[in-house]
Amino acid sequence: MLIGALEAGGTKMVCSIGNPQGGVLQRASFPTLTPDVTVPQIVDFIGKFDVKALGIGSFGPLDLNPASPTYGSITKTPKKEWIQYPLMAALKDALGVPTGIDTDVNAAALAEYTMGAGKGRGSLLYVTVGTGIGGGLVIDGKVVHGLVHPEMGHMLLAPQEGDSMPDGVCPYHRHCLEGLASGPAIEKRWGLSAKLMTEDHPAWELEATYLAQMCVNMIVTVSPEVIVLGGGVMQQMHLFPKIRERVLKLLGGYVSSPSITPEGIDGYIVPPALGVNSGVIGALLLGAQALEKADACMDSHFHPPVILAVTYDAQCAWTREGDGKNHGEIDAALCAMQMMLQAAELGLGTTYVGMFSPEKLLASFPEMAGCTPIALLTLGYPAEGAHPARLHTQRKPLEDLVQYL
Ligand code: ADP
Ligand code: ZN
Repeated sequence: MLIGALEAGGTKMVCSIGNPQGGVLQRASFPTLTPDVTVPQIVDFIGKFDVKALGIGSFGPLDLNPASPTYGSITKTPKKEWIQYPLMAALKDALGVPTGIDTDVNAAALAEYTMGAGKGRGSLLYVTVGTGIGGGLVIDGKVVHGLVHPEMGHMLLAPQEGDSMPDGVCPYHRHCLEGLASGPAIEKRWGLSAKLMTEDHPAWELEATYLAQMCVNMIVTVSPEVIVLGGGVMQQMHLFPKIRERVLKLLGGYVSSPSITPEGIDGYIVPPALGVNSGVIGALLLGAQALEKADACMDSHFHPPVILAVTYDAQCAWTREGDGKNHGEIDAALCAMQMMLQAAELGLGTTYVGMFSPEKLLASFPEMAGCTPIALLTLGYPAEGAHPARLHTQRKPLEDLVQYL
């Protein structure tokens, strides 16, 4: 099965075609110009393949509240044409497949958690140190979203004595992590590109101190089981021992864990196991998750290409005056029946699924809020040899069913 993946960046859009396990088969990249130019290029490329879902890891900030009418839109960005652009809705509509979206760093965090440095662990923090600094936190397989989404790059740090630029470069905050420790911050402070600095440059001592402060703040706040540090700046591998040493010192022996010891910390603060592939793997996983969202609400798994959810809105349905009976449920069931007949007429297979969890469905699709789900109709060509469950063919004799009064 093919899944489409989009790594949406400020300079380029990388489209990949892969499988739900994170394997990549095809790739194409387009410069990020305006949505008018770039989105059709993405749609053209991915649309050539029979993808069953799409996953997007995007630059942000994004609206990631599934109940919001602008869910999946880019909110703020220095790229004017992309402000408030409904990236997810545009691609979902054009490609017509279930689509999942998260920030680029959250996608990478999910990938590292699932099949990288976090394999077998219960939680993972991923922080990328590059042009900006971003962080993603995964706990029990779920990427943490909150009020909006975490912006760990902007946590406030204690500026160090002797730092010639103690306020940092962030236009929004004084002495935040990104302002003090991003690639551009290093460059501005020392007047030299981070890429060109030798290992003995004093920049790295300061850099390690700020990144260690961040690690400590996160350890005492969310206690992640592993911390992955990636991004361009972390290509400087000598930063790792410097950061680890400072983390131990700053924690002062307060946190008791085998990971927070001179022996254990080498396996605790680590580089990404997936390298530069974490973004695309994360997007593929988001696509696979989007595909499973409706299926996961049912007790039997049909994995059909389309699932119709039949719901009713009790506020709109007719209510019988005498006994106050609301007919929403009856009307919805009648509609479901018509839909099944229509599907059969089109030569498609379908089944009326009543065995599902309405709570799970409403939690997965907050768009349905206010409606009562009645049935899920799976829709597609049945697998070869598929047959109805045994009870479906049981028939009662007419005499048992019809009573003449
Ligand atoms: P982006 O964050 O733009 O997606 P990167 O993660 O590569 O991309 O970050 C770019 C920043 O990282 C630049 O400021 C650059 O100076 C710095 N950088 C890139 N490679 C290295 C390196 N090998 N050593 C130190 N700094 C680097
Ligand atoms: Zn900031």
